[in-house]
Amino acid sequence: VIDHGQPTHAVLTTCAYCGVGCSFKAEMQGETVVRMVPHTDGGANEGHSCVKGRFAWGYATHPDRVTTPMIRARITDAWRPVSWDEAIAFAAARFKAIRAEYGADAIGGITSSRCTNEEVFVVQKMIRAAFGTNNVDTCARVCHAPTGYGLKQTFGTSAGTQDFRSVEAADVILLIGANPTDGHPVFASRMKRRLRAGAKLIVADPRRIDLVRSPHVEATHHLALRPGTNVALINALAHVVMTEGLADRAFIADRCDPSSFAEWAAFITDPRHAPEALEPITGVPAADVRAAARLYATGGNGAIYYGLGITEHSQGSTAVMGLANLAMATGNIGRPGVGVNPLRGQNNVQGSCDMGSFPHELSGYRPVSDEAVRAQFQAVWGVAVGAEPGLRLPNMLDAAVDGRFRGMFIQGEDIAQSDPNTRHVRAALEAMDCVVIQDLFLNETAAFAHVFLPGTSFLEKDGTFTNAERRINRVRPVMRPKTGKHEWQVACDLATALGYPMHYDHPSGIMDEIAALTPTFAGVSFEKLDRLGSVQWPCTDAAPAGTPIMHRDHFVRGEGRFMVTAFVPTEERTSRAFPLILTTGRILTQYNVGAQTRRTANVAWHAEDVLEIHPHDAEQRGIRDGDRVSLASRMGATSLTARLTDRVPQGVVYTTFHHPETAANVVTTEHSDWATNCPEYKVTAVQVTRANLR
Ligand code: SF4
Repeated sequence: VIDHGQPTHAVLTTCAYCGVGCSFKAEMQGETVVRMVPHTDGGANEGHSCVKGRFAWGYATHPDRVTTPMIRARITDAWRPVSWDEAIAFAAARFKAIRAEYGADAIGGITSSRCTNEEVFVVQKMIRAAFGTNNVDTCARVCHAPTGYGLKQTFGTSAGTQDFRSVEAADVILLIGANPTDGHPVFASRMKRRLRAGAKLIVADPRRIDLVRSPHVEATHHLALRPGTNVALINALAHVVMTEGLADRAFIADRCDPSSFAEWAAFITDPRHAPEALEPITGVPAADVRAAARLYATGGNGAIYYGLGITEHSQGSTAVMGLANLAMATGNIGRPGVGVNPLRGQNNVQGSCDMGSFPHELSGYRPVSDEAVRAQFQAVWGVAVGAEPGLRLPNMLDAAVDGRFRGMFIQGEDIAQSDPNTRHVRAALEAMDCVVIQDLFLNETAAFAHVFLPGTSFLEKDGTFTNAERRINRVRPVMRPKTGKHEWQVACDLATALGYPMHYDHPSGIMDEIAALTPTFAGVSFEKLDRLGSVQWPCTDAAPAGTPIMHRDHFVRGEGRFMVTAFVPTEERTSRAFPLILTTGRILTQYNVGAQTRRTANVAWHAEDVLEIHPHDAEQRGIRDGDRVSLASRMGATSLTARLTDRVPQGVVYTTFHHPETAANVVTTEHSDWATNCPEYKVTAVQVTRANLR
């Protein structure tokens, strides 16, 4: 513990880790943080915090931070520190040269869910208006893109339905593919309070997560499904609802599209979707599925919470739509205590998606193919936006390997470590003529970059993050940018150097432009956020203080649409050579690839990634607890330490991906969600062998 003495002042800001979006008072002495104190009036956290937000902010001043721009002609050259002007001129010249020779669609970029809404908005604007292409994507591509797709298809908007407070009115919680005590700790505490007060819990997860059984909380049902069978399980639950007379027919008749319901009802009541028929696929006893479905449908307010265990599959979008079907069929939409709620991973996943970071959508999820929408942007930006969707991130990487895509701007993401099939990602980066990275540290991806533009930590940022409940929170700077430039200014300078003058006096001006161009943000301004603390979008003339619960009287799309959700098994199959299934997740003290948390005292709680393996599987391989083991898949191999535990079922192994030494994504597959290309991180056929003796 470092004693910084007594604070002289405090600044209210927002945690930059997970999608809960806790508010903190940064207690300061000059530009030094003395401590972070959770804000009792924080809309998302009400005075609570976790070990990441409370203690793991020291990375902002870590000596590894790069604060000077750097360039190099080839990735084999040494970095050369340069001025901002020289770095921006160098990047602009390279992008211009590619554009002149190969066209604007040979360049593009990705935005970051770690950055503010304002920073994301200007980067996607730079790519569309200055690069001249719709080749823009977001790191949400690899986590919650299926949420955006699935909820838009069924409900009409790409966001969760409830505020966090809603859980306090839930009677039954269906928690599927999420582990909130590790991933979203402050929300998990809220959920636990409700469970201790008597709400029932159904956990659907291959692993026995803490909420299955922890002090004073015990799940009524743990549906320990085989990895990769979410859609089959959700269909089985819905089959029971529909065939046992548990559906809310009045809600369906009043609120939902009748023809989509008729088609779905015929599909889901087919005996092939009965729990007994699907038990050999899911591995979940049919009697447990029936009991869980009855509890969710008849136990009062039923709330669904889910995470990356739903989305990061080859049928991620199908599973999201299946959950929406289940909620509509039981009338669990449009009031406190119910809904379909994605637990977003990063602090601003929701915001980065809202800000127009998808190649087919401008801000507010409006398609680039819509002429009226494009005309609105053209009027403000003074430049035409292309009508054709651009490339998604995985397609950019594929095109780079083929030589068709040659330059990329990467805002705050370490794709060489975080994206699946690491070898392919590295080959794509290596093939490009211009890779520009904006980040805090020289990460794994920087090894393939030609330009490094130093980024700012959340303690230097001025703007907004949007959390998992659509709450727009202010992020306020407690120190000047250590780089000498704000990230939004860098994007403006690069756009200007590319021939598209872009200028703002302050991030509030960027938010004003977002509000002018984005109907769901129409009533948002820094002035309002400072006055009210936060607001949840949609924030409009009709709802000037925001909208905690959506779809109350009607769905955003009008009538709720049921979607047929046929189960299609993943192409990733176990075999004699790869007989186990690897699935991945996070732990409480660490965050994603660990770039921040590994540079704080939190690393002491988790110095390495370990492989959880069932004692039976370990015994068959002669593996003892603590042995070093090799983890191999069809894609690659890595090594890590074995931890024997029956938290994982036989046939399944589990690890985290916080440490680059493990490089867990060396083994993950190329398979991805059929609708959104979100990678199938959660299912990889592997073999585990003992690497050496202790
Ligand atoms: Fe930060 Fe999430 Fe922890 Fe809150 S729960 S302090 S937002 S990491």
